[in-house]
Amino acid sequence: MTDAFHSPAIELRGLRLAFSANPILSGIDLSVAAGERLALIGPSGSGKSTLLRCVNGLERPDEGEVFIFGEPLARQGRSRVQARRRMGMIFQHFNLYSMKTVLENVTLAPIAVGGLKKTEAERIARTCLGRVDVSTLADKYPFQISGGQQQRVAIARALAMQPEILLLDEPTSALDPELVQSMLELIQSLAGDGMTILCVTHEINFARRLADRILFMAEGRILESGRPDELLDRPRSERLKSFLATLG
Ligand code: ADP
Ligand code: MG
Repeated sequence: MTDAFHSPAIELRGLRLAFSANPILSGIDLSVAAGERLALIGPSGSGKSTLLRCVNGLERPDEGEVFIFGEPLARQGRSRVQARRRMGMIFQHFNLYSMKTVLENVTLAPIAVGGLKKTEAERIARTCLGRVDVSTLADKYPFQISGGQQQRVAIARALAMQPEILLLDEPTSALDPELVQSMLELIQSLAGDGMTILCVTHEINFARRLADRILFMAEGRILESGRPDELLDRPRSERLKSFLATLG
């Protein structure tokens, strides 16, 4: 039996994944404590999104295992469903259901997966929409609201499942520049709630403020990992030095 109390929120052991013989993840080992906030940085194509997708089970590694609070994610059935319920994911391109209203987007999973009654799901949805400042948009469709508002709805949708782990994949990279700062502030405020956070981002100053630890990924490997000041101010590898230089 695993001891859930002492288990890391996320544990990756020896993850390997190739797409048509191209290695994408080349041996990833990682342990994330409950409540820890991690930023994942690295060049485009280094495998960051694929890593996140393995954590929440959207992608299956060829080798290695993912544990969520000590439970192997690969196990079929109830424990897999339960593990995935404990995670919310925010995508770069929001990924809202275009044929559903904002309110329906947020109530869908609590009803279908969480088994809540519609009225209860709507009550929770309205609370979550309020937390991200889009209460007034409940009856709109995604195409009627801005990208920044859509991303806020996507965050409300994740929060409605009361996740213990929040995975964010470049949550601001598709937003207009003037919307980025307020989105980063919103994410920072959620991070105060004790959720375990794994956030892929190119916003280095945000990563510095948000993260307890930053991981630098390149070519399918975690090349460096450390506190923000260690990793950003005293990078060890030439790879990380040159990556940071490209960000200016
Ligand atoms: P990052 O998020 O760091 O930019 P990704 O994890 O998206 O990197 O992608 C890593 C590499 O894997 C890229 O070269 C990408 O083209 C490739 N890749 C990602 N998903 C697939 C897929 N479903 N099929 C084939 N190749 C993929
Ligand atoms: Mg990506």
